[in-house]
Amino acid sequence: MLRIAIQKSGRLSDDSLNLIRECGISFVNSSLKLMTECTNFPLEILFLRDDDIPGYVADGVADIGIVGQNVLVEEGKQELTVEALGFSKCRLSLAVPKSTNYTSVQDLDGKNIATSYPNLLQAFLDEKGVQANIHTISGSVEIAPGIGLAEAICDIVSSGSTLISNGLKEVERVFKSEAVLIASPQLTAEKRQILEKLLFRIHAVQRARR
Ligand code: ATP
Ligand code: ZN
Repeated sequence: MLRIAIQKSGRLSDDSLNLIRECGISFVNSSLKLMTECTNFPLEILFLRDDDIPGYVADGVADIGIVGQNVLVEEGKQELTVEALGFSKCRLSLAVPKSTNYTSVQDLDGKNIATSYPNLLQAFLDEKGVQANIHTISGSVEIAPGIGLAEAICDIVSSGSTLISNGLKEVERVFKSEAVLIASPQLTAEKRQILEKLLFRIHAVQRARR
């Protein structure tokens, strides 16, 4: 039996569950249960917060998982990557209030930037030679400029409509992300075999979608 960790409820959940279903794998999904055993494939699904998925897979509590690259790389666990899955595409971007006269990333030197992704942001700023004060907050990052916490934010963007409705404009792209399949490095031979079977089905689903 292989154990997969997926997001319990959020932007990755539906596409993760749909992928498993399209692989021809059946299961009963009750929103109250934290775990469900598939009925026609040796797979057990564990429902977690996305932030916890890389750690659980690294520790071997779950064998494999589906998570956004943004979370995976932020947590320094990119070595768990098996392959990109092509959904939940988004980007991590820097944004400033619409009225800010922004010319280049150097404008952020000495400024306060609010984000939930301090490591990804720090790596970007280091590469650009910019020194800023990073304020790590766990949610509602887009309100930080409005309440005087920061002059800029670094947050996940897909269409950009959340930025616009908060009076912000996107000024730099920091990181491009999509959902990835990750796996524990210490799978038993038996589990690796199940993973190979699952990957075979995933590839068939992906070919059919194209
Ligand atoms: P949890 O409660 O599990 O911690 P969360 O609130 O941290 O959830 P979500 O907002 O559900 O996370 O986003 C999960 C992942 O989906 C993100 O880390 C990112 O990879 C991706 N994602 C976020 N926003 C979008 C979006 N607008 N479009 C597509 N994918 C997105
Ligand atoms: Zn999360």
